Amino acid sequence: MTDTRTRIVWDYAPAPESPDHVRLRDSYGLFVGGEFRDPVDGTRVPTINPATEEVVAEIAFAGPQDVRGAVEAARAAQPGWAALTGLERGKYLFRIARLIQERARELAVVESMDGGKPVRESRDVDVPLAAAHFFHYAGWADKLSYGVGGREVAPLGVAAQIVPWNFPLLMAAWKLAPALACGNTSVLKPAETTPLTALLLAEICQEAELPEGVVSIIPGDGSAGAALVREPDIDKVAFTGSTSVGKNIQAALAGRGVSLTLELGGKSANVVFEDAALDQAVEGIVNGIFFNQGHVCCAGSRLMIQESVADVVVGKLWERMGRLRVGDPLDKNTDVGAINSREQLERITELVDAGEGEGAQRRTVACELPSRGFWYAPTIFTEVAPAHRIAVEEIFGPVVSVLTFRTQAEAIEKANNSAYGLAAGIWTDKGAKAFEVASALQAGVVWQNTYNHFDPTAAFGGYKESGFGREGGPAGLRPYLRVS
Ligand code: NDP
Repeated sequence: MTDTRTRIVWDYAPAPESPDHVRLRDSYGLFVGGEFRDPVDGTRVPTINPATEEVVAEIAFAGPQDVRGAVEAARAAQPGWAALTGLERGKYLFRIARLIQERARELAVVESMDGGKPVRESRDVDVPLAAAHFFHYAGWADKLSYGVGGREVAPLGVAAQIVPWNFPLLMAAWKLAPALACGNTSVLKPAETTPLTALLLAEICQEAELPEGVVSIIPGDGSAGAALVREPDIDKVAFTGSTSVGKNIQAALAGRGVSLTLELGGKSANVVFEDAALDQAVEGIVNGIFFNQGHVCCAGSRLMIQESVADVVVGKLWERMGRLRVGDPLDKNTDVGAINSREQLERITELVDAGEGEGAQRRTVACELPSRGFWYAPTIFTEVAPAHRIAVEEIFGPVVSVLTFRTQAEAIEKANNSAYGLAAGIWTDKGAKAFEVASALQAGVVWQNTYNHFDPTAAFGGYKESGFGREGGPAGLRPYLRVS
């Protein structure tokens, strides 16, 4: 019988978020001692929009003397900050949280312009969660000893905090909020490709009348980060980024008595059992790997599917991938935005080539990509062997590697067969199975029937080469306190 029905193709009209309301300066100094300053021995570098390759603003990069100056300002401010009551410190954090909310639209647009992520994500995830982190730790500031079992606490002192480019504002909030609540002062170094929202946060600190020197924000390249962790007068280093730089920092701190938190890479297993609600699982897989173009430390990049449903799940996933909209990060319909930098695009391309070279089957969604900027279309690899580089190394892009398993024991063994241990996902209908598998997985966070779900009250952090120390919730206070 012939199908005579008319086929209607539903398409989306563009829904661009306007950047007209954003008031960026042409040039930003270093934020030290409560004011924006010219660098003493640093440089000035343009920051570009990865979706257009156009310059967004010029940024001062810190040199070694600038780094020293920021640490001195933090040291000078620390006793006064620690001497405030927790209630008073909490009021400043509440003010910062409220100001983030007031400037939410501007922060979301700038985050997308500077980093390439879809504005839907910066608007609905990054900015609200950043405010929520400040609210959460504002509440803890006068209850610190309750967070550590009623023991006496004191701040560590000066915290050196280094953040990456995948969640620039949110990672700044994860670092600053607990450090300040505990009475520490901070020198924060944003990533070189995404300094802008951290600098807007510096403006917010000014607006909140945070005492000068409590927070310094010094953009710079890797050498500024390396200089910061080598400063003799710091008490704490908190780093989020690659495992190789994390190891480098750990070596630099050896024997110095400086407290260290490392939140490093991952190759997280997202495990789908045959009894799972498969359509729901497919949505979770998409969220797990294509959220923020896969530039997520806990991305569900190793998709492990029970063999009996592997073909069905891969078929549904491929169909769903074809409906992802890739393009302008400022369009509210966009699902997958721009790759953060040319270097990251080259890293993704190199690893995907390695996957093909090693014999895995690659399928990339055929979609029209903009002619300028850095882009990578959603990609899936099947017939992946556990030893393939794409099953072992962090790709940090919109690329998922599919492995299969037959039994629960095999799923656990394969999921744990990684140098990393940051996160995992379990998709099953059976509560008992979910708990049993979760307790056997070597991962800091295990999501059940969901993925990439963040909350400021919940601890986040890794095992093995994914690092140590926890951020979020009461556990996130401990790395910033001396407990007696
Ligand atoms: P990095 O680890 O180099 O960057 C993270 C932060 O550390 C940035 O602020 C960076 O500055 C700074 N930094 C770089 N070198 C040093 C150093 N020697 N000492 C102190 N700080 C330093 O990550 P990349 O940007 O190079 O990304 C490389 C890979 O790392 C990605 O492909 C991805 O696999 C992984 N990655 C993982 C992240 C995670 O959340 N787990 C986040 C980012 C990357 P600058 O930006 O100037 O280089």
